[in-house]
Amino acid sequence: MAQTYDLIVIGTGPGGYVGAIRAAQLGFRVAVVEKRPRHGGTCLNVGCIPSKALLHASERFEEARAHFADLGIKVTPKLDLAQMMAHKDKSVADNTQGIDYLFKKNKIAVHRGHGRIVAPGQVEVTPVEEGGEKGGEPEHIEAPHIVIATGSEVAQLPGIEIDEARIVSSTGALALPSVPKQLVVVGGGVIGLELGSVWRRLGAKVTVIEYLDRLVPGMDGELAKHFKRILQKQGMTIKTGHKVTGVKVNAKSLEVAIEPSNGGEAQSLKAAAMLVAVGRVPYTEGLGLEELGVKKDNHGRVIVNERYETNVAGIHAVGDVIAGPMLAHKAEEEGIALAELLAGQAGHVNYDVIPNVIYTAPEVASVGKTEEELKSAGVAYRVGKFPFSANGRARIAGHGEGFVKVLADKESDRILGVHIIGPDAGTMIAEAAVIMEFSGSAEDLARTCHAHPTLTEAVKEAALAVAGRALHI
Ligand code: FAD
Ligand code: NAD
Repeated sequence: MAQTYDLIVIGTGPGGYVGAIRAAQLGFRVAVVEKRPRHGGTCLNVGCIPSKALLHASERFEEARAHFADLGIKVTPKLDLAQMMAHKDKSVADNTQGIDYLFKKNKIAVHRGHGRIVAPGQVEVTPVEEGGEKGGEPEHIEAPHIVIATGSEVAQLPGIEIDEARIVSSTGALALPSVPKQLVVVGGGVIGLELGSVWRRLGAKVTVIEYLDRLVPGMDGELAKHFKRILQKQGMTIKTGHKVTGVKVNAKSLEVAIEPSNGGEAQSLKAAAMLVAVGRVPYTEGLGLEELGVKKDNHGRVIVNERYETNVAGIHAVGDVIAGPMLAHKAEEEGIALAELLAGQAGHVNYDVIPNVIYTAPEVASVGKTEEELKSAGVAYRVGKFPFSANGRARIAGHGEGFVKVLADKESDRILGVHIIGPDAGTMIAEAAVIMEFSGSAEDLARTCHAHPTLTEAVKEAALAVAGRALHI
């Protein structure tokens, strides 16, 4: 006899596990299905958490090496990579165990194995052995509502085979056993620049090859230009407008062939390792969607309506597997909204206010529209900018690089976008998101008392600058 529930969630990444908890809070009997040994999906196991652990540790290493002396602290740091990796692994274990606790607390049933939707309302769970092979007797579970929260996987570069030893994806780059002498990063997006920064700080000579003529496509252009200059100053070699055409794998090194994106003279780069970070693609393998007729778009994303319903009744989807930015917090909000909609509440995600953060040093953070988007939409706007070089707290810490930029509607003064490159930008962007959720104006932000001396005063000053009345510049 199949076990029955109100809701079955396939995949326990941020979209699945948070949605499951919210549904349990609302009184649903919930089961989750997960094929990895640990919950948390990409984010906790091989994404947000391990990458931030290495970013945190390597940033401290670089500070100790290059900046402590300015503060009157003399040290010569020595890298213990094995301990840095152990700290990363412990961070992952602590966080994933946290989900086990939350599932128990919320009485969520856990079914371990690969989930396949055999018919609307019915899921078959096949045990997965170590190494990923399926095996053993499948079990059958049933529920009127099924949520696909199966996330995404690494996008491949045609003709280049990722071996996770020397030619690595983000997963391999989070676990290199030693610092590569030279690291070639393919893709100047968020993964390439975060993990490229980690290995540069630890001693690798890092070269980033980006196909487009700019870094971090989608981010505000002015920020991206400034970011590129800072990364170059830190010692990263950045080749925008270039592509990788092949890799020769020798016994001891890689020879990476590159050429300008629009054609031109080819070059060869010697590397000890290469990171392929050209994006991620939705993951729906073995879910049974083709047999069920669940529709996907031409990027392989499951198509849903504003209630996260697919075209097949009772089957829903959230997170990286559907359209939108591939971000953990976006997936979480969708999981919550879906649970609330199923409970008859007004679940909703405001896609205009989803912050985006790159956890380099300095950090890059944005929410809302970029200048390019406003221009192409023909929206009249005003800009207020304030540099961290004029912020007392940033100067104390030696973090004077970067700026805050506030974009506000020319007529109504409503804030349309906030873009920050600077220390702790990822934390500060939250106040911009809150004020935008309340449709606040630049004047609202400018008239809010900000504590002194804090980095957030730069946000207030940028809001003041929208009306041409910044005080400290
Ligand atoms: P996932 O987290 O991918 O989870 C899907 C889960 O479903 C997996 O556990 C998988 O094993 C399971 N699954 C799949 N198919 C089946 C099946 N058939 N049966 C059973 N289980 C199945 N985002 C941020 O917001 N901030 C960051 O700092 C950040 N850093 C990142 C760093 C890296 C290196 C990477 C790769 C990603 C990062 N991301 C970050 C993106 C973030 O990880 C994803 O947006 C997020 O994990 C998506 O959540 P999800 O629930 O949709 O899917
Ligand atoms: P991305 O889309 O951020 O960047 C990929 C980059 O590769 C782009 O700049 C693209 O122009 C470039 N590119 C594509 N094909 C190329 C080619 N053949 N040669 C050279 N360059 C090429 O993707 P990513 O960095 O792989 O990250 C994947 C996803 O994971 C992102 O969507 C991101 O949202 C998420 N993520 C988020 C965070 C964070 O929030 N801090 C961190 C890591 C990953």
